[in-house]
Amino acid sequence: MRWALFSDIHGNLEALETVLDSIRGARADRLVCLGDIVGYGANPNECVTLTKQSSALTIAGNHDHAALGLLDISEFNDHARAAIIWTQDNLAGESAEWLRGRGIFLAEAKLRIVHASPGHPLEWNYILSPMDAYQEFRMFEEPICFVGHSHVAGLYLAPEEGDYAAGFIQERELPPNEPLQLPKNQRAILNVGSVGQPRDRDPRAAWVLYDDETATATLHRLEYDIESAQHRILDAGLPPFLAYRLGMGS
Ligand code: ZN
Repeated sequence: MRWALFSDIHGNLEALETVLDSIRGARADRLVCLGDIVGYGANPNECVTLTKQSSALTIAGNHDHAALGLLDISEFNDHARAAIIWTQDNLAGESAEWLRGRGIFLAEAKLRIVHASPGHPLEWNYILSPMDAYQEFRMFEEPICFVGHSHVAGLYLAPEEGDYAAGFIQERELPPNEPLQLPKNQRAILNVGSVGQPRDRDPRAAWVLYDDETATATLHRLEYDIESAQHRILDAGLPPFLAYRLGMGS
């Protein structure tokens, strides 16, 4: 089965339209959205509607929960907090209701899928190092776990079995637009990157195609109309930094 996985849209309509077009072209069997559909960008409702229409299995992220008032935003940075308050004011009742119905993880067909980390999905921990990944590998049983949250696409690999130390965890980059064969006899945590606000110094929108029969993953990176998304952010009165960073990919 071919899975299309996308995450961290953050109200960026131009990026989401581009990614969904690309996914349609790739003829994936199943679509999965790993959450953070809203927060930061100027089109939360349109992004909720498109995600819903795509029939993607969808889980919630921390910004979705924050926009619904389910998460304390006092620890968010100033820009993120301002964007959540704006999103709360602009989120339609219908969008909020749909977001409220999303779960926090999926486990099926030998895949685990969660927004932030498999161990404690509601603590919204980041997996940013082999040590972080080492802790998380002990918290799920499937051969592969897909995450988003950091907005940085990448891969961690662990031995399939046995008692191993943190030093055995390998960290790999995912080459853009090229299938990568995942090694047999290793478990993986794969970060699918971000649709609407990449932070790995590549401003192109990201999504991942995963073929569970061949164990190959392809990180798609796509140009989209960044300028238009930036104008919408500025016109909405959101913090200008949120527009600026789209062009930087950071
Ligand atoms: Zn996010």
